[in-house]
Amino acid sequence: MTTSPSWRNPDPRRPYPLLIVGAGPAGLLAAKVAARHGARVALIERNLLGGTCLNKGCIPSKALIRTSRLYREMRDAEHFGGSVPGGIAVDFAAVMQRVQRIRARLGEADSAERLAAMGIDVYFGAARFAGPDSVTVGAKVLHFKRALVATGALPVRPPIPGLAEAGYLTYENVFDLTECPKRLLVIGGGPVGCELAQAFARLGSRVTLVQDEPMFLGHEERDAAQLLSDALARDGIEIHLDTQTSQVRVEGNDKVADLINEDTKRTVAVDQILVGVGTAPNVDGLELEAAGVEYDRVLGIPVDDFLRTSNPRIFAAGDVCTENKFPHIESAAGRIVVANALFFGRQRLSEETVPWCTFTDPEIAHVGIYVTEARRKGVPVKTFTVLMHEVDRAIADGEEEGFVKLHVGEGTGKILGATVVASHAGDLINEIALAMSAGLDLHALARANQPYPTQSQAIKMAAGAWVGSRRKSLRSWLSTKWLSRK
Ligand SMILES: Cc1cc2nc3c(=O)[nH]c(=O)nc-3n(C[C@H](O)[C@H](O)[C@H](O)COP(=O)(O)OP(=O)(O)OC[C@H]3O[C@@H](n4cnc5c(N)ncnc54)[C@H](O)[C@@H]3O)c2cc1C
Repeated sequence: MTTSPSWRNPDPRRPYPLLIVGAGPAGLLAAKVAARHGARVALIERNLLGGTCLNKGCIPSKALIRTSRLYREMRDAEHFGGSVPGGIAVDFAAVMQRVQRIRARLGEADSAERLAAMGIDVYFGAARFAGPDSVTVGAKVLHFKRALVATGALPVRPPIPGLAEAGYLTYENVFDLTECPKRLLVIGGGPVGCELAQAFARLGSRVTLVQDEPMFLGHEERDAAQLLSDALARDGIEIHLDTQTSQVRVEGNDKVADLINEDTKRTVAVDQILVGVGTAPNVDGLELEAAGVEYDRVLGIPVDDFLRTSNPRIFAAGDVCTENKFPHIESAAGRIVVANALFFGRQRLSEETVPWCTFTDPEIAHVGIYVTEARRKGVPVKTFTVLMHEVDRAIADGEEEGFVKLHVGEGTGKILGATVVASHAGDLINEIALAMSAGLDLHALARANQPYPTQSQAIKMAAGAWVGSRRKSLRSWLSTKWLSRK
């Protein structure tokens, strides 16, 4: 529930110190922080409070992934000394009911009534800028001193001939399914495509996954992407890398897709097609021209490091922005906007340490710099790696796949970045991100006391490897000095 059917939009009075368009994570967080500081806030949402994250993204996908992990574990029961007498039956309708229940439960925390109780004026309807300091919602005109555009993004719909006619799913409707497709084609090997392909495979779909690049998760390190590829193949997914979907047609009850890579053409017949090829910023219909806010239909709204748009009164945050379009960043962005818009702050997005994670199994998490990026920028970096099969708890858990890699500034000992591939990499990366943002060095990570056994021992071991390498170079320096005296 996001609001009761009897909800009535308030009557706008004086200009709002902060008006926010879009109630996804970026807009909601900014509204709550501003209200907590006692500011009068208007929050306008044209659809569901919580935005993509709560309703069609992070939450429903994670709820589905949890159940799919359970089914995978049941299939692996023998490996753990268990058995499932009578075999495993997936009740897909019940799985999806659980997804809806979780979505509804989390939605209650941000219902319109609760937001109103915090002092936020919630308006339902599509916002349109009427000028540099005003917005309309239906017949109401709202004035503002500062505004935040946090309208998110929409799924990209690729112009594959025949796709629209055949019909397809995106993240907007895949969580409304009540029957598990027997055969599913997933187009797109980014985080959304990989997470959902694996989840549906584990829930019983025969999944074909097509990616037009040579690896999954284009921005991640190659060995991480390779481990993911291997894991997806083990889940029985038919993988086609470097492959284009050239056309789709309907044959009887089947959707038939032609897949082409350099030397082969193949045809796959499925019951459903799920497209996950990225998102496009939600800028249409906002009349940004009236507000003097520059934008690009493909790249979104350009912002500076303080998240200001070309109209200095108007800020933008989250998936609608050109830069820093990482999913996890919107909450930080919402906080920064409030500081900069209401309190003359000078907080910069570039100063945030922001980890992220793709929640496949194993999970792939990253923070800070990539090695290729370091090389490009001429930053000398040394990497310290611990494989998860060296970690006692990972062995005990039967979760030995993956690694922790710490990228350390050569000569400085500063943690510049890390990639973690592990069953719970999304949790493990937090310790490294915290160390980075608090300016802790590797000695601190290596010395930290941890309960034994935990998988985060891998981080301590990687930091310990750096400490060991320092001692080794100190010893060899001392012995060279000593010998040169003789
Ligand atoms: C399947 C999937 C899984 C994901 N999993 C994760 C994850 O695990 N972790 C993670 O960090 N991220 C994840 N993401 C990404 C995450 O959901 C988005 O990055 C995040 O929701 C962006 O937040 P936002 O506030 O910028 O926009 P949104 O959440 O898209 O919210 C924007 C809101 O603005 C409203 N709006 C648009 N135009 C108007 C208008 N004119 N007037 C009024 N309201 C308007 C929309 O209705 C919407 O509610 C996932 C995404 C998908 C699709």
